[in-house]
Amino acid sequence: MTRTYRLGCLLGDGIGPEIVPAARRVTDAALAAAGAPAVEWVDLPMGAAALAEHGAAVPASTTAVLRECDGWLAGPHDNESYPPSWRASGERAPGGELRHVFDLWANLRPSRTRQGVAGRVPQMDLLIVRENTEGFYADRNMAVGSGEFMPTPDLALVVGVFSREAVRRVVRQAFALAEARRRHVTLVHKANVLHLAFGIWLEECAAAAREHPGVRLETVLFDAMAARLVRSPESFDVVVTENLFGDTLSDLAGELAGALGMSGSLNAGDRHAMAQAAHGSAPDIAGRGVANPVGMMASSAMLLAWLGERHGDAAAGRAGAAIDEAIDAVLAAGVATGDVGGSAGTEEFTDAVVSEVGSR
Ligand code: ATP
Repeated sequence: MTRTYRLGCLLGDGIGPEIVPAARRVTDAALAAAGAPAVEWVDLPMGAAALAEHGAAVPASTTAVLRECDGWLAGPHDNESYPPSWRASGERAPGGELRHVFDLWANLRPSRTRQGVAGRVPQMDLLIVRENTEGFYADRNMAVGSGEFMPTPDLALVVGVFSREAVRRVVRQAFALAEARRRHVTLVHKANVLHLAFGIWLEECAAAAREHPGVRLETVLFDAMAARLVRSPESFDVVVTENLFGDTLSDLAGELAGALGMSGSLNAGDRHAMAQAAHGSAPDIAGRGVANPVGMMASSAMLLAWLGERHGDAAAGRAGAAIDEAIDAVLAAGVATGDVGGSAGTEEFTDAVVSEVGSR
């Protein structure tokens, strides 16, 4: 059913203030073209500016408002540039904090070649489903504090966490998504070394495969996957894996398909979803008006698709699909940003996508 969504808008750092407004404009245009009500946007502080003004990169006031939102757009964060006092405070990096607080357990990261963009490979279309709340990301693994410890200045210990519940839900999600794609799931694991942790992954995948007899399950070691992804990326459909492996492989896949700036990403939980591009804050090009907004726009399209599915809202689903099609059409017409060989700035590219969405 058509409904009015309340969405947070968090600019973040680096190129965030350029790409997030671009994605917001395209979202507004797509919903209007689909005959859906306008979004009720809520601007909220996150990142370096929030740290300076509120003393936290993700202030409690931001999370309180997000709790009442249907979802949000989040820019990247450049926590490497935050003052030493921030690290000493023990606050998680903003993306990790939001994933943790809202239990955004599935990170969906598609990578596909698009006409008009010279990828490093001729053809690929895969979806990485990354477990988003535990695994080797120690800062997500504790209710309080981080799973990194330093008993002496020369000894660091890191806790990896693999719970059956977290593995099961993300594996099930991967199989459900594969049903609507090419019905092929690849589990990336390291059970030859970490028998217990990845034993859980293998067991849960085998159980899901029994529930989805039409979906082919393949298992590949993480190191072998790095090579296979470069050699034959077109042979993968849905790839499911733990947090750090998924983060690494999605950067590789994004770059193979074209460039990092092209990769959309949705962080989804049971009640909320966060659209945040797979790339980082790109401080080297920030403020110059040249950032590629495709990754952030594609993330917004995924958020609309998620809202459409969750609420049975066909108009939101149509709007999400229209954004993706409009990006394809604009790139195919030769309009692109510099990172993928074009000459358009962020604004010119965004104008072209907004106008394309409006003409559909
Ligand atoms: P962070 O520390 O936040 O991860 P980073 O610059 O180290 O930032 P990324 O931002 O992920 O890492 O990307 C590395 C490089 O890729 C950037 O320095 C930039 O040159 C390029 N890049 C990434 N995203 C984009 C984009 N949207 N548009 C254009 N170039 C991009």
